[in-house]
Amino acid sequence: MIIAGNWKMNPDHQAAEALLEALSDYTPASDSNCEIVCFPPACYFSMANQALAKTGVRWGAQNCHQESGGAYTGEISAQMIKEQGGAWVILGHSERRQYFAETDALVGQKIVTALQTGLRPILCVGESEEVRNKHSHDNFVQSQLEASLELVAQMSPDAQKKALAQLVIAYEPVWAIGTGKVASLLDIEAMHQGLLQKMEALFGVQLPEAGVPILYGGSVNDANAADILGLKPVSGALVGGASLKPDAFLSICHIADKK
Ligand code: PEP
Repeated sequence: MIIAGNWKMNPDHQAAEALLEALSDYTPASDSNCEIVCFPPACYFSMANQALAKTGVRWGAQNCHQESGGAYTGEISAQMIKEQGGAWVILGHSERRQYFAETDALVGQKIVTALQTGLRPILCVGESEEVRNKHSHDNFVQSQLEASLELVAQMSPDAQKKALAQLVIAYEPVWAIGTGKVASLLDIEAMHQGLLQKMEALFGVQLPEAGVPILYGGSVNDANAADILGLKPVSGALVGGASLKPDAFLSICHIADKK
C-alpha cells in the first residue's frame, strides 16, 4: 500500500511544522509494508527532509520541470528535488492540467525526466464530470494513460522494465477532488480494472503483480478509506484535504497498514 498526502499550496509555516511533527511520530505496524509519502510545497522541502530523515516517511514534490535545468523562471528541476532529499514527484495532477495547461505529452516528458533522475513519479489521470456524464470516462482515462506513457512505451525493454518498477498511477476523478463526492466503490473498482488491463495491453505486464500500483484519489478520508483500500485493484490512496489534518491522515495510514 502507498498513502500519499498532497498538501498543495495550503499549509503555512506553522501548520507545515505541525504536520511534519505528526508524521515523524508515525509508527507503522511491525509487519507493515505500507509506504507513506507527503508532498509539501517546495519552500518546506528542507524542513521536511530534516523532520523525516530518521523516519520511514518519505517526501516528494507536487510537480517538476521536464528539462534538467536552464532558464525557466519559477520552475524546479527533478534534480533539485532529489538533491534536497525528495524521492517522489506527483505529475499530471488535474490542477496542473487545468490551471497550467499541462498536456499528456508534457506530463510524459516529465515522467521520463523524473525516472532518469531517480524520482518515483505518481502519474495522475482522471475524467471531468462532463466526461463521466457522457459515459466516456473509460476511454478518456485510458487514453490519458496511454498518451502520458508514450515515451515509456518507446523505451528499450530493459529501460522500460526499470521505469515500470518505479511508476505509480493515481486514478483521480476530477469531480471527486476536494468536493466531498467520492466515486462509488463499484466505479473505482471498474476504473482500476480497466487501467490494469490497459497497462497489460500496452506493456504486456500483469499488474499489480508486476509492481505498478494504482492509487485512488478524490475525497478520501478516515471514514471511507477502509472500504476504498479494501478493493483488490486499489494499491493505496492519494489524499488531498485529509492530508492536512494530522489525525485523519495518520488514521488512513494505520488503515492501510493493516491491509
Ligand atoms: C488531490 O488533490 O489529489 C485530492 C485527491 O484531493 P482531495 O483528497 O481533497 O479530494
